[in-house]
Amino acid sequence: MLLEVLNPATEEVVATVPAATAEDVDAAVRRAAEAQRGWAALAPGDRARLLRRFAGVVDAHLEELALLEVREAGHPVGSARWEAGNVRDLLDYAAGGVERLTGRQIPVAGGLDVTFHEPLGVVGVIVPWNFPMPVAAWGFAPALAAGNAVLLKPAETTPLTALRLAELALAAGLPEGLLQALPGTGPEAGNALVEHPGVAKIVFTGSTGVGKRIMAKCAERVKRVTLELGGKSANIVFADADVERAAATAPGSFLDNTGQDCCARSRILVQRPVYDRFMELLEPAVRSVVVGDPADPATGMGPLISAAHRERVRSYVPESAPAAIRGEAPDGKGFWYPATVLEGSAADRVAREEVFGPVAVVIPFEDEDEAVRIANATDYGLSGSLWTRDVSRALRVSRAVAAGNLSVNSHSSVRYWTPFGGFKQSGLGRELGPDAVAAFAEVKNVFVAVE
Ligand code: NAD
Repeated sequence: MLLEVLNPATEEVVATVPAATAEDVDAAVRRAAEAQRGWAALAPGDRARLLRRFAGVVDAHLEELALLEVREAGHPVGSARWEAGNVRDLLDYAAGGVERLTGRQIPVAGGLDVTFHEPLGVVGVIVPWNFPMPVAAWGFAPALAAGNAVLLKPAETTPLTALRLAELALAAGLPEGLLQALPGTGPEAGNALVEHPGVAKIVFTGSTGVGKRIMAKCAERVKRVTLELGGKSANIVFADADVERAAATAPGSFLDNTGQDCCARSRILVQRPVYDRFMELLEPAVRSVVVGDPADPATGMGPLISAAHRERVRSYVPESAPAAIRGEAPDGKGFWYPATVLEGSAADRVAREEVFGPVAVVIPFEDEDEAVRIANATDYGLSGSLWTRDVSRALRVSRAVAAGNLSVNSHSSVRYWTPFGGFKQSGLGRELGPDAVAAFAEVKNVFVAVE
C-alpha cells in the first residue's frame, strides 16, 4: 500500500510513500533492539555528544525541513521554521539531560543503597499530523537521551519530515536502526507497535478516542504509555484586564496552525461589562490575519490538512447560525476554511467538542465562579489563558482551572524546558521539561552490603 502525500494548499501530490506493514514493524523492532544495546552501553558523554551532533545536523537543514513541513502540512513558512528549530533545541536540551540523569544515594544500615536509571529498550512514538516535527521530537529526543531506541510512526498525511529526520540522525553518526521512521496507517503500523512485545513504551499524541484504545491495549501488557490527547481550552477575559491586548492576541490563540492545535483557546469567555468592547476589538484583529500561500512569509494562516477534515470542521458551524465574525479564505484548490467566531453558550456542541479548525465560540460570564465553572465544563484539560490585572485572582483562577498548562496575560503553552501535558481526558503523563528524560527510564534500586 502507498500513502499519497498531498499539499493541502494546492491538492497536488507531493510524494507517495510505502506504508509499513506489521511485518515491517516487527523487523524494525529487531533492528532497533540490536542498536539500542550498543547505544545504552556508550559512555553518557559520548551519547550526549552524538545527540548534540544530531542537533547540529538538524540546524544545518532547518530550511529544508521547514519547506517539507510547508508542503506536506500547509503550515505557514514562519511557523514551519520555528518547528524545525524546536527539533534542534529539543535535541540539544535532551543531550544535557543525559548528564543530568543522576540517581540517588539513600541512607541504609549495613551497606550502600543507590538508584540507577535504566533505559526501557525500544520506544514507539506515534505522531499526529498537526505538528509532525516538534511532536515527534518531544518523544524521540528524551527517549534517545535515556539510552533507548525509537520507532517513529508519523501520521498518514505527513510522513516526510519523519523520514528526513531519521536520515539526518544517521548522517550525524547515530547507530543504524536507533531512530527509524515507519510511515503507515494507524490500524496497521501504529497498532503493530502498540501490540509488539518488543516495544516497552508507547508515546501517543493524537485524538482522545484513539488514545483510549491504545491505553487499553497497553494495559493488557502493562506497557508504559504517555498520552497527549485533545483539548478544548478556555481563554478567560476578566473586566479588569488589558482588554485591548487580550483581543489583539486572541486570534493567534485559536487561528495558529489554522486552529489545528491541541492548545487552541477555542472557547473565549468574556466578562459581561467588557463583552461588547471585546467583540468590537476582536473583529479587526481576526480580519488582519493574512490567509493564503503558506510559502509566503507574510501568511499567518494556511489551509486545513485535508478535505475530510474540512467537512468535519464545517459540521460544527451550522448554516442557520450566522457567525459573529467570518474571515476570508481563498477560492479554488486547497482545503481552505475561513476564520469563524460564533457567539454562544457553554452547552453548544461547538463549545464542548474539539473542532480542530479556525473556529472559536465567545461566551459571556458574570463572575469568577461562573468563569471557572464554564472553563471546567469539559472532559478535556490541556491548556488555557486568563487575562486580569489582579494578581490574587490570577493565582486563584490558575489553581482552580483543571488544565495542565495555563498562561496569565499571554497565550504561550509550550517551552521545551517546562513540563507539558493534560489533566482529565487530555492525557496522561508529562513531556518536555526537566523530567522528560527520566520518563524514558526505569528506576532501579541496588543495595550493596558492606561487611
Ligand atoms: P489520530 O488519533 O487520528 O492519529 C494520531 C496518530 O495515531 C496517527 O499517526 C495515526 O496513524 C495513529 N493511529 C490511529 N489509529 C491508531 C491505532 N488504532 N493504533 C495505533 N495508532 C493509531 O489524531 P490526528 O487526527 O492525527 O491528530 C489530531 C489530534 O491530536 C487532536 O485531537 C489533537 O488535539 C491531538 N494532539 C494533541 C497534542 C498534545 O500534546 N496533547 C498535540 C498535538 C495533537
